[in-house]
Amino acid sequence: MARSITVLGATGSVGEQTLDLVGREPDRWRVHAVTGATGIARLAELAVAHDAEVAITALPECVEALADALAGTAVRAAGPEALEHEAAAAEIAVNGIVGAAGLAPSMAAIRAGRTLALANKETLVAAGELVTAEVARHGATLLPVDSEHSALFQALTGEPRDEVERVVITASGGAFRDWPLERLAAATPADANEHPNWDMGRRITIDSASMFNKALEVVEARELFDLRPGQIEVVVHPESIVHALVGFRDGALMAHLGPHDMRHAIGYALNWPGRRPLPVERLDLSALGSLSFRAPDEERWPALRLAREVMEARGHAGAAFNAAKEVALDAFIEGRIGFQDMAGVVEETLTRLSGRGDITSPVRSLEGALSADQLARDEAARIAAAIGD
Ligand code: NDP
Ligand code: MG
Repeated sequence: MARSITVLGATGSVGEQTLDLVGREPDRWRVHAVTGATGIARLAELAVAHDAEVAITALPECVEALADALAGTAVRAAGPEALEHEAAAAEIAVNGIVGAAGLAPSMAAIRAGRTLALANKETLVAAGELVTAEVARHGATLLPVDSEHSALFQALTGEPRDEVERVVITASGGAFRDWPLERLAAATPADANEHPNWDMGRRITIDSASMFNKALEVVEARELFDLRPGQIEVVVHPESIVHALVGFRDGALMAHLGPHDMRHAIGYALNWPGRRPLPVERLDLSALGSLSFRAPDEERWPALRLAREVMEARGHAGAAFNAAKEVALDAFIEGRIGFQDMAGVVEETLTRLSGRGDITSPVRSLEGALSADQLARDEAARIAAAIGD
């Protein structure tokens, strides 16, 4: 029997790679729904090529264009109101939406007891405590797709959790790893959108240059694997071949290595709990020659310090952190603030909101997480505007 799948964010980097894998095994998969936002022509094309029942745009203003693009085909067009329902309708949902917009569809799949293959790290950063509780309550299955977390998940399989001493997540260092610090003030969005190893969406690529991506991933790991903040380390690894390592109480370190191809992590989640052949390059270690590691420089990447503060604060600090980061990233992309101002906007937002009851309280509802998200967006927008003036 073919397994039904919904691909959230189908028009993005993770979504396209998911459909590439699914399309290679048509007997195993039945594509139920594909979703996107602005990329209407591509969304329609993917929906038809994969014989989806429904295609959804998350933007109300794009629904008409989607309906036009799908006229005369067997695919139904739908708007944002269908997103949560369809996210929960298939046996497995792959969430490749970028940003906090991925949270509500993730929750819908979880509350329907589905398997959620999660690339959208913002889901766990913004509401990790709620997400893991709801996964348990509804008997859902949560599989990480972020490459570092897939690596940790694989290295942890079969290992008693109380024997884990620490986890180590690697970071390439992004576009500015080797730039002199004094040049960073003049860094442009185009400069930041150059990843040394991975080909990903623009937002995560710029977040890799600022290390906000790694900061989100540290919080993601804390929530996903129920670790203490002090158990999570980040190491800069320019080659991005070792994705993550698990350290056990006997001192052993188990590493996961792989090529720069997200289809490994996506394919692992699609095939879990088994493994199947994947169309990814096999590593040639002798051709690689050597791998290098170094400590992250927190002057260059203040985001890592902020991540530790967010983990210590817990509650709704994660939602506020992610939302402030999204606003700061938009302001940088639009040329309103500089590259290094992003961390300042996020830190000032967290400072202004700290101590508020609606930020410090535990995350018990989706509405609570979304309201902390909005609060931080408004605050961060004010702070960014003051810098831009
Ligand atoms: P992309 O920018 O390539 O794609 C994002 C997807 O989300 C697109 O389908 C886009 O639609 C859709 N989208 C954008 N805004 C909204 C919205 N408001 N509501 C609903 N859907 C929306 O992102 P990536 O694929 O790079 O990343 C997706 C997620 O996966 C992120 O959380 C990222 O951190 C994570 N991730 C990505 C990796 C990668 O290799 N790319 C690796 C590990 C994690 P449209 O394009 O049609 O506007
Ligand atoms: Mg990652």
